[in-house]
Amino acid sequence: MLKIKNLTKSFGNLKVLKDIDLSVAEGEVVVIIGPSGSGKSTFLRSINILEEADDGFLKLDNLEVNLKSKDKDDIYQLRQDTGMIFQSYNLFRNKTALENITEALIVVQNVNKEEAIKIGEELLTKVGLADKRDTYPAALSGGQQQRVGIARALATNPKLLLVDEPTSALDPELVGEVLKVLKELAQEGMTMLIVTHEMGFAREVADKVIFMDQGEIIEIAKPEVIFTNPKNKRTKQFLTQIY
Ligand code: ATP
Ligand code: MG
Repeated sequence: MLKIKNLTKSFGNLKVLKDIDLSVAEGEVVVIIGPSGSGKSTFLRSINILEEADDGFLKLDNLEVNLKSKDKDDIYQLRQDTGMIFQSYNLFRNKTALENITEALIVVQNVNKEEAIKIGEELLTKVGLADKRDTYPAALSGGQQQRVGIARALATNPKLLLVDEPTSALDPELVGEVLKVLKELAQEGMTMLIVTHEMGFAREVADKVIFMDQGEIIEIAKPEVIFTNPKNKRTKQFLTQIY
């Protein structure tokens, strides 16, 4: 359902993404691992054109987008169809949990307020925060804020979730509750691309794991293969370093 072709991106002289191709099937969870600076975030951000690629082509179901295009309709449609979850949750400080989720629905999608609230409440329940409906971010824990972030990403009913280090800003005891929500989404068949350093989680949810280094996909394999018997020397090296 997702096909990426020839994705290329440089910052100045630095080639950050070198001609990347990737296909993801509907309902598949792909985990991306790799050293700092290898281009993981840039890769995710290029997919919904938060970062403008130098070259590249994407097909998401029937939507075909030239990734260096600035076509407003393409970008709008692509952002409708993809949800993004970041390390820093970037919630609106002056809006409640519920308002954070409904904002885009009401303002961008012109969903009427009642309907938006209904969707928002359902999503809060889904992430286990029904009782925090009217709470402001400052009064939520990091894990709760991230779960609001996930609910917000789901509000537009995306086909694809792009998830970038969802737990790396969290205290260790809060990591589990966020991973649990992502695991549930995976089980429900959400198609996801997830950058994470949580290898246990990767083993559990990933259908495929990508090892990325210096802007390239070095190896792509099932988790049981990549974690126990990686084919590539660089993958091996990386995994020895982090374990
Ligand atoms: P990390 O694991 O630390 O999050 P990453 O794999 O996500 O790393 P990216 O953030 O994609 O890596 O960065 C890839 C390379 O591109 C790095 O060398 C980074 O310094 C560079 N880079 C990223 N964003 C910019 C930017 N806006 N301008 C210039 N260089 C950038
Ligand atoms: Mg990153």
